[in-house]
This record gives sequence, C-alpha cells and structure tokens, in this order.
Amino acid sequence: MRAPTSRSLFRKPLPGLILAAMLGTGALVAWPALERHFLIRAAMRDEATLRLVTEVLRGALSRTEALPALIAERPILARVLRAPDATGLIPFANEQLRLTALSLDVSDIYLMDRQGDTLAASSYRAERSFIGQNFAYRPYFTDAIGTGVGRFHALGTTSGERGYYFAAPVLDGTEILGAVAVKITLDQFEDAWAQSDSTVAVYDTSNVVFLSDRADWRFRSIGPVSELAIERIAQTRQYPLDAVSALPLRRVPLADGLTRATLDGDGGRESFVLQEGLIAAAGWRVAVLTPAGPATAQAAAALALAGLIVLLGALVAAFFGQRRARLLERLEAQRSQHALLESRVRDRTRDLDDANRRLRAEVEERRAAEARLRRTQAELVQAGKLAALGQMSAALSHEFNQPLGAVKSYAENALTFLDRGRMAEARDNVGRISRMADRMATISQHLRNFARRPKDHVGPVPLRAVVEDAVEIMQARLARSGVTLRGPDWPDAPVWAMGGRVRLQQVLVNLLANALDAMADDPAPAINLVLEATEDTLALRVRDHGPGLGDGDLPQVFDPFFTTKDPGRGLGLGLSISYNIVRDFGGTLTAANAEGGGAVFTVTLRRAAPQAQETAAE
Ligand code: ADP
Repeated sequence: MRAPTSRSLFRKPLPGLILAAMLGTGALVAWPALERHFLIRAAMRDEATLRLVTEVLRGALSRTEALPALIAERPILARVLRAPDATGLIPFANEQLRLTALSLDVSDIYLMDRQGDTLAASSYRAERSFIGQNFAYRPYFTDAIGTGVGRFHALGTTSGERGYYFAAPVLDGTEILGAVAVKITLDQFEDAWAQSDSTVAVYDTSNVVFLSDRADWRFRSIGPVSELAIERIAQTRQYPLDAVSALPLRRVPLADGLTRATLDGDGGRESFVLQEGLIAAAGWRVAVLTPAGPATAQAAAALALAGLIVLLGALVAAFFGQRRARLLERLEAQRSQHALLESRVRDRTRDLDDANRRLRAEVEERRAAEARLRRTQAELVQAGKLAALGQMSAALSHEFNQPLGAVKSYAENALTFLDRGRMAEARDNVGRISRMADRMATISQHLRNFARRPKDHVGPVPLRAVVEDAVEIMQARLARSGVTLRGPDWPDAPVWAMGGRVRLQQVLVNLLANALDAMADDPAPAINLVLEATEDTLALRVRDHGPGLGDGDLPQVFDPFFTTKDPGRGLGLGLSISYNIVRDFGGTLTAANAEGGGAVFTVTLRRAAPQAQETAAE
C-alpha cells in the first residue's frame, strides 16, 4: 500500500483548518486552568520558604522577647534611675549594657527613665548614641511603663536602622523607675531572602512593608493604609511618612490561600503568586511572592506539548482514518466486483437456462421428429417394399412372359409331337413346361411374402435359408446379368441370427440389386458373399466389383432418398430402409469400399442359439 503523504492527509484544506481552529479553541479553554495548575505547583514549592521565613522571624523575636525583663532586674539599672547624677554609675551601666548587648548579640540595649529619656545605652561609644534621646513617643516605652511589656518595630530615629524593640520596666519593688529596651536589627534576614528567586515582604497591620529583600518595597504599602494608621505612624515615628506609598500591586484570588499578584513597576510588569503567613505576636504578615514567569513558561510548554500530542494524535488518526477509508474503498470495490461477477454469473446462468430450455425443446422436437421419422420410415419400409415389388413385378412380368411364351411354344411343340406320335419329344417338352411352372410358382411365393406387411417381431432366423431365398428371388436378374456369385462358405452347423426372415431377405435382395446395378456395365460381373462368425455376431458381407462408393457419397448412402441413379430407376430408399431394418434387429449395416475396388456392404447381426425350427414366422 502506498504510504500516505502529508499532502494526501491534508488534501482537503478543510480538515486542517478545522483541526487548527479546534486546537486554538482547546488551547484558549485549557490555558487558564493549566497556568493556574503550574502557578499553584510553583507556590507549593515556596510553601517551605514561607514556613522557614516565618519560623526564623518568630524564633528571633521570641528569643529576644524575654531579654528586657531579665536585664531590668540588674540592680545597677535601678540605681542609675534613682540617682542618675551619681558619679561613675552611668559609665558603669553603659559598659554593662554594651557587654550584655555583645554577649546577647543584639543591636542595642538602653535604659530610659520614666520620662523616656535615655540615661544609659550600649551604644554609648557610638557617634550617634541613644544617650540623651527621648523615646516617650515610642509605644514600646509607654507599653512597658503602662502594662509591663512593650514591643514595637520601627525605623530607628537615631540609628536610621530598622529594628524590633522590646522593653520592660525597671522596678524597685512595685515602683516603676524607668524602662529597659532591647533592639534587634532584621537586615540580616533580608540578605538571606535575597538568595532565592522569590520575593519576601513582611508587613504589619498598617499594610506597610517593613522588611523585604527588595529594598524599593520597604516602607511601601501592600494594601490600603487607613487614616488612623497614618496618624499612629506619625505619632510613633514608626516609619518615614514620606516613604509610605502604595506599591502598584494588584491581587486576584488564585486558590485557597494563594493570590495572583501583578506589579506594574518601573521595570515593567511583574507577575507573582502570593502566599502569606502570620506572626501573630508581632502583628506581622509574611508574604512570599513566587515569580509567575517560570510557571507560566512551564504551562506554555505543557500546552505546546499537549498541542503537539493532539496534533500527532490527529495525524495518526488521520493516517489510520485514511487507511481505513482506503480499505473500505477496496472492500467496496471488491463488493461491487463481486456483485458484478454475481450478476454476470446470474446472466450466464440465465443464458444457460435459456439454452437448456431451448435444447430441451429441441430435444423434444427431435424426439417428435424422430418419432415422425420412425413412423414415416415404417411406412416407407412398406412403401419401399412395394416399390421393390413394383420393380420386381416389372422384372418378373418380364420373367413370367418369357417362360409363358416358352411354355406356350413348348405346349404347341408338345401338341405337334403328340400329333406326330413322337412321344419322347412331347414328354420332354411337357417336362420343360412343368419345370417352368415350378420356377414361376417359387417366384410368386416370394412375391406373396413381399406383399405382406411384416410384423415387428425379431427372433432367431436360419441365416443360410434367408440368404438362399434372397438369391433365389434375384436368380433371374443374376442369371440375366451373367454375374458370378461366390460364397458364402457356410459352416457345418446351421447359424441362426436374430432378425425377421422376410425383412432380412428384403435387405439382402436390396444389396444384391444394388451390386448388380453398380456392375451394369461390367462385362464380367462378380459378387462375393462372405460370412464372418464370432461367438456373438454374424457378419455377412456383400461385395461387388463395381466402381465403389464415391468419397462424397459414402456418408450419405444411408440417407433416405439419396440416389445417384437416373430418375425412374432409383428412389434412394433401399439402403435407408435396409439400415433401419437391420438396426431394428439390434444389428448394424455399414458401407465401405473394398480393397481392389468395388463396394462392400456388411450386415452384422446378433447371433442366436441354434433352434430346432424357426419360431418367428412373419
Ligand atoms: P437406389 O438404389 O434407389 O438409388 P439405394 O438406397 O439402394 O437407392 O442406394 C442409394 C445409392 O447408393 C445408390 O444410388 C448408389 O449411388 C449407391 N449404391 C448403393 N449400392 C451401391 C454399390 N454396390 N456400388 C456403388 N454404389 C452403390
């Protein structure tokens, strides 16, 4: 089979267009779900990042939380607060705080009196020391004084660093003398976050981003900032208010706990999947923003792959479809060929049936014709016999007239001899008359036989007697033509053949007559009769020395009315009748040319068992 080419697959442009349209529509429909799937997968990978960020921050905060209360218990601090002017106390406290900050790895530790003024600080050596600064405006201070626990995150007004502040009151008994604050910085976390592709943003209840690995996001709002919040920020100097501006971040829900965030920044549009965690103690939300780009690319690749697979599937389907179509076509062709063949066979069968019918009709006709022929032949046998009789009568009347004339003259002679008393001569003449009469009686006997219509009976007949009778009938003609008749050599035992005596005689007479006719011009005519006997058959040959049968005549000599004789001399019925007679006996009559010239007719008869006497008289 010819391999289908891509041209043949898309011979018609329509299926290709439809396929393209279907693929396009499929891609459009499938794209959002596919992209969403890949985005969610990407976000799920960043779930661990979120957890880590949250835990690390929470850990850092909780580790520091208890420190101010512990530090506040140092007696030196209470002493400083009671007597801030006492010599040597503050430097000592400063150094104490510095060492403590170093050992605790915190940014700052400082001591404030009840008014919020900083008396001692770990950063006492630094250029911009906290000492002398008043932090009464910071909530951690007021909370520490008011409720015993203070915590706050803000941009340090002195240091310019972002920090988380924990504060605890310094007590003397139940009296609150002041407060100790511990500040930790958080910049180091941002450095760690910057390592990953994702962006981390930590924002507070005001929606202002406090920490982020992206510096340009810091102090920008990730959601709406309420008036109250702005007021509080201003009051507590938490952030530089002029820096607080909204990030152009649009958020659309993507899945449970996930939003699709789009940032239209200066560097163009950025797309993320945003997930959030909560650090309740700090009032912070941690947002991890996974870049959507790789996930989108993956989705596009998957879609392209699916498209390719569908295309390939379509190609394979088209290939098999074509193959199937061709197979169906072939089957159809075979079916129609089969049908054609069947219809031809039907036609032929019909023709054959017709031919058969015609043949049967013809056979019927032939049978009828044969029956007619048989009837006609039977009649002709009789007619032929009558014709032969007529011929014979003519011949015989001649034969009779001659002896009658002789008888008359012998009688007259006898009378004359009697008158003259010459008795011996008279006796001789009377004897001649008697013999003549005998002969004429014999001939007339045969004529009677001929005149009778023979029965169809077939039985054993003594062949020798029949032959001799026939010769006897022909005797006059044989004698007249001076023919020499030889044979046959009869065996000692009498031979009996199956036949009818008179009809067989008639056949033989006819054969002898034909032989004589054939040798009419022969000066020394001769007829040979030969008998050939086998166990079952007797064949009698009548052979003449005439001109024989012409090659063209041989096949038709047995046809009725075939004659080469002059009109009036031959009817062409003799052999035809003879043939049928012999056939009726169950024998055959054949004609041939003898070697050395002349015709030979062979009558073959079935041999019969020797009989005591002839039973079948006709
Ligand atoms: P008919 O003798 O009336 O012609 P037959 O049927 O007896 O009819 O013979 C048919 C023809 O067969 C004859 O006309 C003759 O031509 C041919 N025929 C028959 N016997 C002989 C024979 N012995 N020799 C040559 N021709 C013969």
